Amino acid sequence: MARPPMWARDLLAQVYADVGRDDVPTLGWQERANYGARITGRTWSEENRIHISVGNRTPRKDQHYILLHEIAHALLPSGEHHSERFWTLAFMLYFRYGADVQHAYAWETKYRKAAGRGYGNACRLLGKDGK
Ligand SMILES: [Zn+2]
Repeated sequence: MARPPMWARDLLAQVYADVGRDDVPTLGWQERANYGARITGRTWSEENRIHISVGNRTPRKDQHYILLHEIAHALLPSGEHHSERFWTLAFMLYFRYGADVQHAYAWETKYRKAAGRGYGNACRLLGKDGK
């Protein structure tokens, strides 16, 4: 198992420090030769564990927001899944931690319609202009 990149470990530690939690999840990171530019993330809440699989051509902006997506899962109780509350938190993290929010919005809303409501909530809560 590869060691996660420094930026990823730092980001995870920073989010947990900022929300005042010391139960930082274990982060697994694997580069897969057959992934190309793709990326997948998964979180096991009960085990407090996140795993990211990346290709050798996965753009950093994708790695960044996918890690934040998994951190949002880890921060919420297991069983929350892709609820509106989840999407609201995810987009708040994207804004707060410098993800390419419009890029994430385009992908997340393609993936799940409810992501758009979370984006709108996050914009309102943070005083950002939405779409
Ligand atoms: Zn998810």
